[in-house]
Amino acid sequence: MTQNRQGLSRHIPEPTKKLVRKACGYGCVVCGSIPYDYDHLKTEFNVAEEHDPDDIVLLCDKHHRQKTARILSAERILDAKRHRSSLDSETRFKLELIRDDFLTIWGSNVITASNNSIMVDDEPILTLTKTDNDLEPLLISGHFRDKTGNLICAIKENEFVARSAQLGDFTVISNRFTYSMPDGSTGLAFTLDDQKIHISSAFHTKSDAHVAVNDDLLQVGNLFSAMRFRRSRFLQNQTAISVGTCCDQFSFDHVDLSRIAGGEMVECVASHSAVGVFVAGRDRPKITSNYDRL
Ligand SMILES: [Zn+2]
Repeated sequence: MTQNRQGLSRHIPEPTKKLVRKACGYGCVVCGSIPYDYDHLKTEFNVAEEHDPDDIVLLCDKHHRQKTARILSAERILDAKRHRSSLDSETRFKLELIRDDFLTIWGSNVITASNNSIMVDDEPILTLTKTDNDLEPLLISGHFRDKTGNLICAIKENEFVARSAQLGDFTVISNRFTYSMPDGSTGLAFTLDDQKIHISSAFHTKSDAHVAVNDDLLQVGNLFSAMRFRRSRFLQNQTAISVGTCCDQFSFDHVDLSRIAGGEMVECVASHSAVGVFVAGRDRPKITSNYDRL
């Protein structure tokens, strides 16, 4: 049924959904978790005449079931919604049972699970730690920042945590996560499953060093210079990419990137080294250039 007996479409208009997401702190109003569904609270959908944002809440599966079973009352859920909208509330999402060969994909560039995916000014965006625990063989931790250096979301041992005050909007549609900034720009977009995270939009900045992803392109750089990658692979590096500030020195698996025409590498492979790409700070040790290895 696409319409109820009042002629109301089941489809909730996007502007209404956006109001609901914000009022619910971008997660289940009771526990803050995602994924969630939009649920008409006091007025059942089949008799509703309009999609009233004040009467719609985000509920996870567990709390939706408790509401349907009348364990959780509408009043209690509305209280929870008021509480979340009045706070700088947290949204949480826990990854479960991820594989130990988990991939991080930045645009069209693939990084295999080995220690630090990308370091920016000595802070890892994503760190992958292998454990002896069969239930959680791999733990992901890190931070995503926006283009002004503010935190978008933190990841601690497979749990993503975003704070509502920093966001203009945050949507989860199937396994696609999109964080929008208060100015309407996309701060971060990725799809996530138990085998990979695929980042399609990001502009992570810290102390003038940046990592940017736009569709298939990955760019790393600082105030002085930048390097771009397409369809490249980083395999079993301790750190796939490390970007510092204040220097134009680039190395790729011990190759001097300043000698690559156009500053863009396509379909290259870095493997079995400490750092796939290294954009050094002035006071950091230099990696010896070896152009012949390309
Ligand atoms: Zn819940």
